Amino acid sequence: MKQVIYLDNAATTRTRPEVVEAMIPYFSEYYGNPSSVYEFSSPCKEVIAHARETIGRSLGAKTNEIYFTAGGTESDNWAIKATAEAYAAKGRHIITSKIEHHAVLHTCEYLEKRGFEVTYLDVDEYGTVKLEELKKAIRPDTILISIMFANNEIGTIQPIKEIGSLAKEHGILFHTDAVQAYGHVPIDVDDCHIDMLSASGHKLNGPKGIGFLYIRTGLKTRSFIHGGAQERKRRGGTENVPGIAGLGKAVETAMATMEERAAKEQELRDYLIGRVTAEVPFVRLNGHRTRRLTNNANFAFQFIEGESLLIMLDMNGICGSSGSACTSGSLDPSHVLLAIGLPHEIAHGSLRLTLSEDNTREEMDYVVEKIKEIVDRLRAMSPLYEDFMKKS
Ligand SMILES: *Cc1c(COP(=O)(O)O)cnc(C)c1O
Repeated sequence: MKQVIYLDNAATTRTRPEVVEAMIPYFSEYYGNPSSVYEFSSPCKEVIAHARETIGRSLGAKTNEIYFTAGGTESDNWAIKATAEAYAAKGRHIITSKIEHHAVLHTCEYLEKRGFEVTYLDVDEYGTVKLEELKKAIRPDTILISIMFANNEIGTIQPIKEIGSLAKEHGILFHTDAVQAYGHVPIDVDDCHIDMLSASGHKLNGPKGIGFLYIRTGLKTRSFIHGGAQERKRRGGTENVPGIAGLGKAVETAMATMEERAAKEQELRDYLIGRVTAEVPFVRLNGHRTRRLTNNANFAFQFIEGESLLIMLDMNGICGSSGSACTSGSLDPSHVLLAIGLPHEIAHGSLRLTLSEDNTREEMDYVVEKIKEIVDRLRAMSPLYEDFMKKS
């Protein structure tokens, strides 16, 4: 395989070897159905119980508040749709933000077509939800606030504890899409007054197609996938036993290595941001300078197309992204970059680089040199840039 410099860890991460190792026995050795009564299925039941316990502990939650799903998208869908249904008699108003992942935004749009009202909160120039606006948006019929823990494009971390407190004060349920944050920053569901939390295995060096939803005890919720009695009758379907085994291992490792990993990523990230902003003219850093994920760098380069930059980086073995994996391929600028107030033409020149602990300073040096080279080349071909330089 060609050597690549992988800087797209917000899209997905490398599954750790010890995670793969932990999954293997549950394919061909312990392949029993966890719902079966015989002894042969016991290891399957045990590995699920163990993973649930590990995840519960990691959030300060109870074991039976963790429900396995097929990933972040399903968890978001479940949290929002099932709450809407279960609490519709109390009210039909939901509050979210303009910078949520499409798993949340499109679910809310779906509910709007079914008689729910949704307020999409603006964010400030750093991508932070404004608490004053949130307060103003709360109505007597508001049943749910869904605000992401950290943004997948610009890395901004939200004031989750303050949002949770507001929700609690008003007797409104609080869901957070923590897919980017879980396993990367410490989270305590009681401390932050979180009622539901979505997370996904493949964003924390676990396998793809597995995730979980935390649901606080006492919350009315409906089953989302109808079928068997799995997951306390709330999510039917034979458990993804290898996936759950892998997720459990990934969480265990993520929690044990969090501090060290974050420190390493942050140092590399700051080095990358420092060099790019100092050495490339007409560039800005998107997102909050300090309240951001330790591995996220998101730049907007004036006078260039982000897609062209990406293609040319790819030709040099560098994997980056223009926004989220979901928006690449479409020519619409990112809804997140527009929400933080970037004009269309600047939002188009964006580049997201998301690091992992596997990256090195040498890689960052190579990437910076390539960015400088490519940006120069693209600007040399840009009529907009030519005009701008003539005028200045
Ligand atoms: C990746 C991502 C999701 C979707 O998770 P999947 O497991 O890929 O379905 C949802 N929300 C955010 C913030 C994400 O980054």
